[in-house]
Amino acid sequence: MRYISTRGGIDPVGFSDAVMMGLATDGGLLLPETLPSVDQHTVSGWSNLPYQYLAVEILSLFIDDLSRTELEDLVERSYARFRHHQVTPVTRCGGVYILELFHGPTFAFKDVALQLLGNIFELLLKKRSASMNILGATSGDTGSAAIHGVRGKDGINIFILHPDGRISPIQKLQMTTVTDPNVFNIAIRGTFDDGQAIVKEIFNDLEFKEKYHLGAVNSINWARVMAQIVYYVFAWSKLHAHGCDSVDFSVPTGNFGDIFAGYMARRLLPPGAINRLILATNANDLLCRFVNQGIYSRGTVQATSSPSMDIQVASNFERYLYYLRDENGAAVKADMQQFDNTGQIDLSALRQRVREDFVSVSVSEAEVMETIRTFHRDGDYLLDPHTAVGVRAGLTFRHEKRPMICLATAHPAKFGEAVHEATGQDPELPPALAELTDRESRCEVLDADPEVIKTYIAAHALES
Ligand SMILES: *Cc1c(COP(=O)(O)O)cnc(C)c1O
Repeated sequence: MRYISTRGGIDPVGFSDAVMMGLATDGGLLLPETLPSVDQHTVSGWSNLPYQYLAVEILSLFIDDLSRTELEDLVERSYARFRHHQVTPVTRCGGVYILELFHGPTFAFKDVALQLLGNIFELLLKKRSASMNILGATSGDTGSAAIHGVRGKDGINIFILHPDGRISPIQKLQMTTVTDPNVFNIAIRGTFDDGQAIVKEIFNDLEFKEKYHLGAVNSINWARVMAQIVYYVFAWSKLHAHGCDSVDFSVPTGNFGDIFAGYMARRLLPPGAINRLILATNANDLLCRFVNQGIYSRGTVQATSSPSMDIQVASNFERYLYYLRDENGAAVKADMQQFDNTGQIDLSALRQRVREDFVSVSVSEAEVMETIRTFHRDGDYLLDPHTAVGVRAGLTFRHEKRPMICLATAHPAKFGEAVHEATGQDPELPPALAELTDRESRCEVLDADPEVIKTYIAAHALES
């Protein structure tokens, strides 16, 4: 499988090069040159596969420059630290199915991708006798999951920017208590979007990027999307084994990475297997406006109880745009240029097509609270606020004849304050989270200025 850029400006590269590149050198995002699909016979054989086996099957459709043994080893090690033997189990509650994605080391769904990505990086760097400095911006969950994905690994240093004072105390501790010498936490005086913009700018400085062998872990890395395709297929196959031909998924969405993996899964599986993808947003509704009106436009960030979805630029949107533009890189490039200049892309002429792929609703804070309360009261099940956004949207679009699978993206204890506000009860802290407050922590506070960040990286980077 070879990979191309959404902006059409690079020669196709293999999987390993695509992963090492992160962002394509023409500023676009990497995608497979052709999309694999599987027939009914093949997926029937997947029905009772354990998660790890299914992961190897799916990954091998997208990777042809690693051996099967290497893939098996990567997958085995990546999911060994999950606390549930099914890795991402499906449960039933309140008329919907819940796909629990939070059983990894940092209690949020990003572990599913980043445990794998950390191991892929380590393997590729070893093969190439190279080293790498990872740079990323986080609104909370990505950073801790990335740090836990690469902590202590040889040949990798990691620099993670988070918005100072704008992430939950637990999220902060999950990052800053990792004191391995290869981990550098940077709190910037600014917003998450500032952090993301700084990272983009540094990656676009090709000289700097090359000098310091910068790599990305943000959801722009193709390997993350790829890893996330697996649990859509896994959840679908669980219900398929019980006689369901068609399911809907509701996805609490921020940067469009998770739901884009769902879009890939939908194209991978036989037609109709995944019927609808529900794009659930909180009050930061730029993607909801895009689905419903065809206008993709920047807004201002509003703080909500689901901070990992508090964004106003969705970094993976460009991947979907590529398909919406019939794989025309030049058109995507023009769109993105227009977005940079005007903060808006008018895609209303393509609205019908978008509506065939997604439906969307924006969920208010009051609805989040009510949903958490109802599930707790009636089902004795605690939803974290991100999950509640997706569940609420799932209930809005639920069809009586089709299972609605809602993605549970974080453990409720990670966002205990919101859960307390809704239910009057504090979720029980899992031991791994409870002990964090006693640990030593390390973090640097810096201005939200690309030059300041570059200077810091230059002083602490691994050289090769
Ligand atoms: C990152 C995150 C999301 C949003 O996922 P995207 O891939 O950015 O759309 C939702 N919930 C939680 C808990 C997250 O950490």
